[in-house]
Amino acid sequence: MVSVPSRFFMRTHPLVIGNWKLYIETPKEATLLVKSLRKRSRSFSGVEAWVATPATLLPAVVGALKGSALRVGVQTISSFDTGAHTGEVSALSARASGAHFSIIGHSERRARGESNEDVRAQLVQAASAGLVPVLCVGETERSQDGAHFSVVAEQIRSALSGTQSLTGKLIVAYEPVWAIGKGASDAMKASDVREMAIFIKKTLAESLERPAALKVPILYGGSVEPENAASLYSEGGVAGFLVGHASAKAETFISILVGIRQNSR
Ligand code: PEP
Repeated sequence: MVSVPSRFFMRTHPLVIGNWKLYIETPKEATLLVKSLRKRSRSFSGVEAWVATPATLLPAVVGALKGSALRVGVQTISSFDTGAHTGEVSALSARASGAHFSIIGHSERRARGESNEDVRAQLVQAASAGLVPVLCVGETERSQDGAHFSVVAEQIRSALSGTQSLTGKLIVAYEPVWAIGKGASDAMKASDVREMAIFIKKTLAESLERPAALKVPILYGGSVEPENAASLYSEGGVAGFLVGHASAKAETFISILVGIRQNSR
């Protein structure tokens, strides 16, 4: 494997984003969860914790987190800024409702038909509304011939084509689809996460200025649980994680955050 200086991956604080998906449904559940995180935030001080809520729960979560360092965002945004698009939530509307970031191109959205072109349009919308885009990339399966690298490179190149000036705050989440929604023993091996993180940095450097590319935090997502978070963090060469099912319960999410704090580089 290529040897890379540790500053290659440097980020001031590790970042862990919880993606609640549809696991949390009511303002009451959402408020209870973030209040627990807030109450226990000293136990993971130095680790940034963000939560991606369903758009309808933004007001409750924003209210419960007022004055805290925890940040809230949404799980997707529209590719359009305005117009006849029933059911869509625009980037501006999410931002005006208190969102700090948006997940973009999650594999569960891509599986419902979102194309690379939709992802690119959402990235532009996020950046122009002032939302930090968390761009998800990842292969659906791994093959011996290394085709997964081409899949990820193509997702990055097409998402960033023509958007160089908009990517100052970009975050990339590498989420191999085959590793999502399972248990810790099914997550990717730390050495493979590290290899892909290096590859993603190199690919970003083709689309962005090299210094900007080196600054983009790369997160890993796919069956991160309290059991594997610390080792994946210390050996995986990533800036943090995008966590799905384990973020929907305060106890498991806090365990992940505490584990990372104890293993911070
Ligand atoms: C995800 O879907 O973003 C994810 C990482 O899910 P899980 O942690 O449940 O694998």
